[in-house]
Amino acid sequence: MKKLGDKLSDSLLTRFELEKEKARNKAILDSIGEGLIIADYDGRVTFINPRAEEMIGWRIDEIIDKPLFEILPVEDRYGNIKALEDQPIHMALRRKDKVIASGPIFYVRKNKTKFPVAITISPIILSEKILGVIEVFRDVSKEFELQKAREEFISFSTHQLRSPVTTIAGNAELLLEGSGQKLDASELESLKSIFQAARERLLPLINAMLNSLRVELGTVAIEPHPTDLAKSIDAVLNELSAQIQNKQLIIEKKYDNLLPINVDPLLTHAVFQNIIVNAVKYSQIQKKIGIALLKKDENILFIVSDSGCGIPQEEQPNIFQKLYRASNVQSIDPDGTGIGLYLIKSILDQAGGKIWFESEENKGTTFYVSIPTSGMKKRDGTKGLQ
Ligand code: ADP
Repeated sequence: MKKLGDKLSDSLLTRFELEKEKARNKAILDSIGEGLIIADYDGRVTFINPRAEEMIGWRIDEIIDKPLFEILPVEDRYGNIKALEDQPIHMALRRKDKVIASGPIFYVRKNKTKFPVAITISPIILSEKILGVIEVFRDVSKEFELQKAREEFISFSTHQLRSPVTTIAGNAELLLEGSGQKLDASELESLKSIFQAARERLLPLINAMLNSLRVELGTVAIEPHPTDLAKSIDAVLNELSAQIQNKQLIIEKKYDNLLPINVDPLLTHAVFQNIIVNAVKYSQIQKKIGIALLKKDENILFIVSDSGCGIPQEEQPNIFQKLYRASNVQSIDPDGTGIGLYLIKSILDQAGGKIWFESEENKGTTFYVSIPTSGMKKRDGTKGLQ
């Protein structure tokens, strides 16, 4: 049996070892060049390293025990604070899984300036219970500036591409109209394919790219005016009447009687058009398409449901990514761009709206758009949509 003196010296030794371990851990955390924050299972800050203090402008004693998503909410590039459920720390706590977030998102410092940030959050799990999270983040201002310059360059080049393609399409059309008997069948075919490639494939692609870049760069103005949304939907249906008739689709409309809503009419038209065009494109002949416009609490809901090809379950998380097209639509519409949904989601993110969907492959898809009854947020900008 150990004597009391031995037991005491053992426990002193253990304490010394623990203190040594703590000091070593602290030196490691203090010396890493990236911001580090530890939060408990409620998302409350329990530790931040000096580099994080430096980057966010808060001292540890000012934010200890405070909820991280209140102190340091994540904003998107248009200055909108992300909803609580989309805050990376909230996602990591909920999913009990690692979350990597960048692209582009921002932290707002204590002095209200902001910087683009790349975040990795890992849960701390012991015996299957989540004790908290460790967040490592870094300032990605340089990468962000480079990305912006690249986007501006692509936007400029795409814009420059528009005019020669418009010239090709216009001249091919003129030649087609005036060709009469002068061309033989194969020459006429070549001319037609030049015209179609320019007008029906290249121009829509260039416009879609230009629009998405303008929306990404935040250069598109949002100018809300009182707008009759039912009329706006009917205008889209009118534009699509030929396709609807060709496919003998049955359109079922259900509109609540709404007062005009303060939205940007052109952007709203683009949102409605994109969703209805897709419902028409991805429906087989003689199917029904339901279009509803409803008031629900403080929001207006625009709902389009089709019984078309649907979106495969495993591909659904990618649907709002730029250029993404599900594997089951390539043969239905080989010319699609995969830009439309990305574009209208960006518009709605910036204007204070939301978009989501439910879908089952070979059964159909329902898209939902919600816009606050208070309307869209105004924003000055230099460009419109093509
Ligand atoms: P595009 O239709 O030009 O491919 P979008 O960005 O509008 O591009 O849509 C992206 C993808 O989402 C489509 O390629 C398709 O896979 C899927 N999708 C969108 N709407 C529907 C729908 N109503 N039914 C089935 N799939 C759809």
